[in-house]
Amino acid sequence: MKIKVHDIPQEGLTYHVEYGGEILQDITQVQEPIAVNIKIERARRTVRVKGDIKARLLLNCSRCLEDFAWSLADEFDFLLMLPPSEKSYPEIELSPEDMDISFFDGETVDVAQIAAEQIFLQMPIKPLCHEECKGLCPHCGVNLNLVSCDCRAEATSSPFEALRDIKLKDRS
Ligand SMILES: [Zn+2]
Ligand SMILES: [Zn+2]
Repeated sequence: MKIKVHDIPQEGLTYHVEYGGEILQDITQVQEPIAVNIKIERARRTVRVKGDIKARLLLNCSRCLEDFAWSLADEFDFLLMLPPSEKSYPEIELSPEDMDISFFDGETVDVAQIAAEQIFLQMPIKPLCHEECKGLCPHCGVNLNLVSCDCRAEATSSPFEALRDIKLKDRS
């Protein structure tokens, strides 16, 4: 959904929109529609975008490589600002700690793009199915969350054992 800045009335616009995975370029499976509540208000050179977003996506655990459901429920509040032209710069002083600022073309506010950005901002770089995910055994490749294997004990002690053996051999 694209909103023309021109069409935003004094009191602002409020929407509830739902999206599917297409707004994330279908990089992941969406388990529930991405639900966005958004309020858009116009000032002279800025547009304030405020609202909340809920999503439930399927991510791939970076340790055990299994898919898991990742839920997001977050609020956002930021300013879209016209790119400063030489003439008007610096027209207003903004304190960056108060609000996030993004630049836009000044004509349209793209709600789908805003929703996608909010999700990408929150999405973990290294997703984990849970904090204590044991991952895959580096030796035999089994999922250690589901089964245990015998390589583990050997793997943890062997480098030092091997080193000690060498030293002992040197001495003798
Ligand atoms: Zn995992
Ligand atoms: Zn193993």
